[in-house]
Amino acid sequence: MITTYHRPKTLDEALTLLTQPNTIPLGGGTLLSKGMPDSVSVVDLQLLKLDALRVNGNELQIGATCTLQSLLESEHVSDSLKTAFKLEAPLNIRNSATVAGTIVASDGRSPSVTMLLACDTKLEIRDSKRSQVSSLSEYLLTRPKGLITSITIPLNIKTAFEYVSKTPADKPIVCVSLAQWNSGRTRLTLGGYGKIPLLAMDGSEDGGIETAARIAYHEANDEWASAEYRIEMAAVLSKRCLESIKSI
Ligand SMILES: Cc1cc2nc3c(=O)[nH]c(=O)nc-3n(C[C@H](O)[C@H](O)[C@H](O)COP(=O)(O)OP(=O)(O)OC[C@H]3O[C@@H](n4cnc5c(N)ncnc54)[C@H](O)[C@@H]3O)c2cc1C
Repeated sequence: MITTYHRPKTLDEALTLLTQPNTIPLGGGTLLSKGMPDSVSVVDLQLLKLDALRVNGNELQIGATCTLQSLLESEHVSDSLKTAFKLEAPLNIRNSATVAGTIVASDGRSPSVTMLLACDTKLEIRDSKRSQVSSLSEYLLTRPKGLITSITIPLNIKTAFEYVSKTPADKPIVCVSLAQWNSGRTRLTLGGYGKIPLLAMDGSEDGGIETAARIAYHEANDEWASAEYRIEMAAVLSKRCLESIKSI
């Protein structure tokens, strides 16, 4: 239950408030407003002007409070990332939910975090004492405390996203994201299962991605699908992603 609500006007004020016990950031509030068993104080981020989208050379810098819908409507966001954002939640939720809140609340079924992970996304994380840059990969494994202020994705990559879900608008039970750099570097990630999306491959070229997908999902068994099914689908979708990237 939210028992105290703060709406600071500056980042410094927000970071100071966040040093207090049981005090957490409030992004779009779509998850936090569902209610929690414990009392919590929230620091609403909406006045901090963290909702800008900036192209900086070969990178897109996304403010932490950009909504999922604003990203879906941006000319700078790739079609594959847009597909992933669209699958994350229905329109009304996308209009409120922020990109940072989505990353923090995500589990392995999140299509957009699966795609962001393939892109080797970087996060800027602040607290009252310092600012640090973390890869999304590291963030998902360690979940450090602190306020995410921006998310940076490379623009000089080709990307592809493929998925299987029970209905067209449902969250995928298997999704595959592929990102490829001019150097040949290829990152393959799998979503639709578990606590975090899986990095199946980060190689200097794209050979062996179907095998990497199969290996990564060898234990991906839950109430939504068997591991055998996910292994086959992950291999098929990886192949489709690669074909799609080669045709760009
Ligand atoms: C009815 C309903 C049920 C849902 N159930 C789930 C579910 O069970 N699991 C799930 O993953 N998603 C669930 N979602 C989806 C959830 O709404 C999304 O994950 C959403 O994108 C969260 O974004 P938000 O900005 O609304 O986050 P908020 O609800 O504002 O915050 C979510 C979490 O992120 C933290 N946070 C927000 N911004 C920052 C920041 N800048 N830096 C650091 N921390 C931050 C908050 O402190 C909080 O812990 C549900 C949505 C709805 C409407």
